[in-house]
Amino acid sequence: MKQWLKKKLTALTNTKSKKQIISRDEHDISRRFISRGAQAVIKKLQASGYQAYLVGGGVRDLQLGGRPKDFDVATDAKPEQVHVLFKGSRIVGRRFRIVHVRQGREIIEVTTFRGSHDQDDNLNKQQSRQSESGMLLRDNVFGTVEEDAIRRDFTVNALYYNPEDRTIHDYTGGLDDLHNGLLRLIGDPETRYREDPVRMLRAARFAAKLEFDIEASTEAPIEPLANLIDSVSSARLFDEMLKLFQSGYGERTFYQLRRLGLYKHLFAQTEWALTHSQKNEHYQAMIVQALRNTDARIADGKSVTPAFIIAAMLWPPLQEAIEKLGNKMKPQDAYQQACQQVISGQLGQISIPKRFTITVREIWDLQYRLPAIQGKRPERTAAHPRFRAAYDFLLLRETAGENTGDLGAWWTDYQRDNPLPSPAQRMQHDDQKDERHRPTRRRRRRTQH
Ligand code: ATP
Ligand code: MG
Repeated sequence: MKQWLKKKLTALTNTKSKKQIISRDEHDISRRFISRGAQAVIKKLQASGYQAYLVGGGVRDLQLGGRPKDFDVATDAKPEQVHVLFKGSRIVGRRFRIVHVRQGREIIEVTTFRGSHDQDDNLNKQQSRQSESGMLLRDNVFGTVEEDAIRRDFTVNALYYNPEDRTIHDYTGGLDDLHNGLLRLIGDPETRYREDPVRMLRAARFAAKLEFDIEASTEAPIEPLANLIDSVSSARLFDEMLKLFQSGYGERTFYQLRRLGLYKHLFAQTEWALTHSQKNEHYQAMIVQALRNTDARIADGKSVTPAFIIAAMLWPPLQEAIEKLGNKMKPQDAYQQACQQVISGQLGQISIPKRFTITVREIWDLQYRLPAIQGKRPERTAAHPRFRAAYDFLLLRETAGENTGDLGAWWTDYQRDNPLPSPAQRMQHDDQKDERHRPTRRRRRRTQH
């Protein structure tokens, strides 16, 4: 953490650590940096007689001097009451019902304070369900703001800010942990991981994002419980994977996931190649480079596709599989079979939408077309809609030490000498592709916590 920030937070927390309510001149959050949408939603809820706070990552990141990417609101109004109050709002989620309130171009997530789900009354039993392993299948028991605080994951994610009187409410010692750069799970870590194993992935993600240490008792159960990740739905794991690798700090997250023994529960085949193959250093270098490129693109505000990261993550097991199958069949058949084997193996862990697995295949296929540089073939390859991604992928392989006979440089020169085809030509090519590979329509999944 930056030195100045540490000092500032030391001054703040040393004197006030026992206090639960921190007044406006004792913290650094300025309303200026809170989105208008979130402020408007809080104002309206409060004017209607409800409690409402800014909560979660927004408060945490503002206090750390960063610019939050979204703002969540917590309130004692029930989802239906919120829905009635805001035109065009939608109640979403089953496992965890929340309201999406549209404010101009922003969507503000409004959650109702959750209560403790282990109270033994009938209503709670109906509204909250747990599996045999202790996993929370539903969490719709409502409660007070204090109860809401202790069911959140990490103390630093459980700070509540009231823009009206500009106070921060801290019920779990989150401000102290923020100052100490510590990620601490609220409550008994083992129970909390059993309730929701995704919290282990979140620990890795926040440790990487905030560059915080994971507090010892929060970290200790992760490795022994890591296999609980396997019981999380593969659709939810896809959403989590995007947050892990496409939030701008993917490289650090990758190191944390591997250190904590979590990575193999997301990419088992890759983990195997990274630990058992003779080429493991080369493979690791390639994945790290892919994540670095992605982090850099996000920092520059450029777009990123999950297909590129997935193509890089699965390249090591693909190479291993091709090698194995190569003894038994023709290279082209070995490649086709290896692709299928690796992709379907991966789908057993994370459900990757078809439109992305198609792109992964295209990026890989092009790796085998890029060496064909005679006659008209480069022209056709360069006109492929995934050419640019495939070229970047080739450079990635080279940066990681693979000898391609300077193919990257050849294609760099080719593009300099042959500017890209006109947009009309490219569109025509895209249309043809779309006909062949039109992805099946998927129902949009709702965001869940
Ligand atoms: P960021 O948006 O920067 O990734 P965040 O802390 O806002 O981080 P979200 O996933 O947006 O994370 O969740 C918002 C808040 O909801 C969290 O800060 C936390 O308080 C709570 N939360 C989210 N997921 C869980 C979970 N699995 N268990 C308990 N609380 C959670
Ligand atoms: Mg958030």
